[in-house]
Amino acid sequence: MKLNGLPAKDKKMREDFIKKNSLNKEEEIIENTLRPKSWEDYIGQEKIKTNIKVIIEAAKKRGEIGCEHLLFYGGSGLGKTTLAGIAAKELGGNFRITSGTAIKKTGDLAAILSNLNPGDVLFIDEIHRLNKLIEEFLYPAIEDFKIHLVLGKGLMARTMEINLPKFTLMGATTRIALVSSPLRARFGATFQLNYYLPEDLEKIIKRSADLLQITIDDEAIKQITVASRFTPRVANRLLKRVRDFVQVSGDKNHIDKKSVEKALGFLEIDNMGLESGDRKILEVLIEKFSGGPVGLKSLAAATNEEEDTILEIYEPYLLRLGFLERTPKGRTITSLAYKHLNKKQQNAKKLL
Ligand code: ADP
Repeated sequence: MKLNGLPAKDKKMREDFIKKNSLNKEEEIIENTLRPKSWEDYIGQEKIKTNIKVIIEAAKKRGEIGCEHLLFYGGSGLGKTTLAGIAAKELGGNFRITSGTAIKKTGDLAAILSNLNPGDVLFIDEIHRLNKLIEEFLYPAIEDFKIHLVLGKGLMARTMEINLPKFTLMGATTRIALVSSPLRARFGATFQLNYYLPEDLEKIIKRSADLLQITIDDEAIKQITVASRFTPRVANRLLKRVRDFVQVSGDKNHIDKKSVEKALGFLEIDNMGLESGDRKILEVLIEKFSGGPVGLKSLAAATNEEEDTILEIYEPYLLRLGFLERTPKGRTITSLAYKHLNKKQQNAKKLL
């Protein structure tokens, strides 16, 4: 079954994503306000920053327009778009954003490509979602800056070659394994964004609080950091939610430890940053599968979540916390998770 041109499964997944990841208009405006525009404001990911600076500097020295195509991968909200935006600014080109889900036909891509100016950066988010036909259409565009348009149908069909301005492609994905190897091979460099260290998240929260013109205690910053899933977007989102909470309760513009505790309690986010969706997965694992191992399909069916949502949103954080393990037989819950949930351990793999 298809809905709005998307298979029903994709549509549900997209809705799940929107629920978990997307921003409403107001949030989007705030996210853009907080988004770093320069290398100095982009905190952490030092190695990647250095590498990109070198690539850009070298290309500039050679007098080239743009630089080699770059691919970024890592979880949602880790700063892929922000990084690409800063790189585009350094290169001096416009930053054009699109996504693998938005490009449904080769014509969509042709329209985007033919509207680029020399030196522009085309950013394709969730690039693993491009279908094969579109991928193949993209290859000559990024290799030789040409596209081949087919005009007419059947025996009358002709191919027309169109030259494109020299542009730089920057791709981003949360699922590197789903990017085909021919596409991967066409990027000059690939970078993996890592989860953030607490000290970097603290700096990000402090900077965002300043931009939002709120004051915040060091202890409150630490608490938001712990609940941030090691991810800047989550840190900023929590900060904004705590700020709303504080303003509604009449505490004006100051955030302290108590207000963070209250707000997190209200949002049902626990002291490890687990949200109700994470806890549901762990609880289902314990109650229905005696702690595992269980395959992804069964876990998705039992939790009523899409497999991709588990893979992309819940599981990376649970694995990172050491609450879940992936074995060849499936997912297994660990003793750390039992302890955190205050549940009696069944056959958990002993980590302690
Ligand atoms: P992604 O593209 O990986 O989903 P974004 O680049 O959209 O992530 O980042 C989400 C938000 O997190 C940005 O608006 C920005 O405010 C914040 N952010 C991300 N990375 C950093 C960073 N390194 N330093 C400061 N803020 C960051």
